Amino acid sequence: MPLDITTFTLVDKPTTLKENLAILERDEYRCQYCGLDGKASFENGLIMRTDFVVPRAKKGKKDPKNLVACCVPCNTIKGKKMYKSFNDAKEFVLARRMELRRAWEAKVQHPAANAAKA
Ligand SMILES: [Zn+2]
Repeated sequence: MPLDITTFTLVDKPTTLKENLAILERDEYRCQYCGLDGKASFENGLIMRTDFVVPRAKKGKKDPKNLVACCVPCNTIKGKKMYKSFNDAKEFVLARRMELRRAWEAKVQHPAANAAKA
């Protein structure tokens, strides 16, 4: 196990391309958090990754049971936090996505209101 110099802990190795593809195939290229279909378009496919449910930084294992297909935005939102379970992580990610969506919609759909505030 290599040493993570940001936390000085021993962490599992990142997944290889072959391991990533096996997880993406198993999960049918669908983000296990938001449901984004990685096969629906080239752009969606480009942002598909493999997520360590228990992060490597928290000693999460490179085991298929700990790996899920995940889009980059969900992976970024989930971060390196520890969750009680996959469902807890999913609940957190989906709630945060909803907050971000509302903030984005408020900005994009009401640009005049935002310009007035500036
Ligand atoms: Zn997602």
